[in-house]
Amino acid sequence: MPGHTIKVGNVELVSLSDGTPTRSPFMPFPDTTIEQWREFPGLLDSNDQISSRYGTVAVRSEGKLIVVDTGLQAPDGTLLDDMSRKGIDREAVDIVLITHCHPDHVGWNLTGGRPNFPNARYLVPRKDYEYWTQPQVLEGAEHITNQILPLNRLNVIDLIDDDYQVTGELTTVPTPGHTPGHISVIISSVGERGYILGDVAHNPAQAHYTDWCPIFDIEPEVSRRTRHRVLDMLESEGILVSAGHFPDPGFGHFVRGESRRMWRGI
Ligand SMILES: [Zn+2]
Repeated sequence: MPGHTIKVGNVELVSLSDGTPTRSPFMPFPDTTIEQWREFPGLLDSNDQISSRYGTVAVRSEGKLIVVDTGLQAPDGTLLDDMSRKGIDREAVDIVLITHCHPDHVGWNLTGGRPNFPNARYLVPRKDYEYWTQPQVLEGAEHITNQILPLNRLNVIDLIDDDYQVTGELTTVPTPGHTPGHISVIISSVGERGYILGDVAHNPAQAHYTDWCPIFDIEPEVSRRTRHRVLDMLESEGILVSAGHFPDPGFGHFVRGESRRMWRGI
């Protein structure tokens, strides 16, 4: 399906979606104004709502099939159907790589206690796992009980440390703040580079308003610093980005316009 597939060197990325709900921009970003949002007409619909895609991405690298994040599994979630439509066989998935343990990133790990990716190892950043499994955090985190802990009993989870080499072309990098153990993924193949952003940014408006932290950021000060550092680097080095919550298919670049940094989707 053209438009949903892109190459970075020899690595192939296929954009997948678990649905695209619309919501008030003030739900995730309560400290913003409608005037600020109107600076980005393409981001608001006719009811002044923004859309927030539950995006994931399938990656083919060195003969491995990797799925980065698994959506929300809401009752109307579309991820598994979208995978079939785009030719991604979930039985062929070798690795499920989780950027962080929010409910909309681990949702389809299992259904009814059975892995949806029956032949995959599930890689979870150790720091995020340790944060979410603290008793006082776990108490309010049903999604960890349902979508992460059963992976232990099934012996299919691997906790990964910083700068983990997923394949020779894919390396994780710590990008903390949104959650304490949040990671992104650097793609490097035959001289080309790409970056799977995770939730370092939730909305293209943050290309310019990089200080904006959605309410989901657990450590806003850390997340703000991380976002500035990462977006500055992606802009200055012109690296292709895959951004899960950005408009479909979520591929593009951070570029410098006349007066501000912008997201230029592909
Ligand atoms: Zn998140």
